[in-house]
Amino acid sequence: TPVPIREVVEEAVDRARTTAQSKNIAITMGGDLDTEVYGDHNLLVTAVRNLVDNAVAYSGPASRVGVGVNERAGLVEIAVVDQGVGIAEDAQDRVFERFYRVDPARSRDTGGTGLGLSIVKHVAADHGGDVQMWSEPGRGSTFTLRIPSADRPEGSGRTGRVTPPSLSDVVRDGE
Ligand code: ATP
Ligand code: MG
Repeated sequence: TPVPIREVVEEAVDRARTTAQSKNIAITMGGDLDTEVYGDHNLLVTAVRNLVDNAVAYSGPASRVGVGVNERAGLVEIAVVDQGVGIAEDAQDRVFERFYRVDPARSRDTGGTGLGLSIVKHVAADHGGDVQMWSEPGRGSTFTLRIPSADRPEGSGRTGRVTPPSLSDVVRDGE
């Protein structure tokens, strides 16, 4: 069944809002929110929520998190951009593994299990899409979840490498 992306993004962001407010982190959303994908509403919310929760958890106070939707070439791309701690280069290949956490000692107070991103990866694959990550230690991270659009033209909607959107790309429409 077609799932409205606006509902998915709003639900995911709503659930992260309390934690974000306690750290004075503003979450902005924007872009092509009036688009649909085929799939499971709850699984998609879970996936986006994991990305937003991470963006908030691994960012310092008074930073910004952007959630931007971009529909092109038959794909709906949901980008979650943060200005947080980032991920060291040698850990970037491993963050999607089950139970992997970059720095268990330092991130103990965030209380995670290391399952979030492996779930995101599975939800992406189950929907014929993918998840990609770009990160610069000390500057922030961008995660993109891409799912074929519900109204894509025949033959489009294939995933491939793209360049990450910047925070200003992502939040512009939401301002
Ligand atoms: P869980 O999501 O199960 O509560 P978790 O957040 O530790 O626990 P993942 O979401 O799978 O697990 O993330 C794995 C690791 O990747 C995290 O422990 C963290 O070190 C790193 N990470 C994930 N997202 C970010 C991000 N936006 N910025 C910096 N580091 C991140
Ligand atoms: Mg997590």
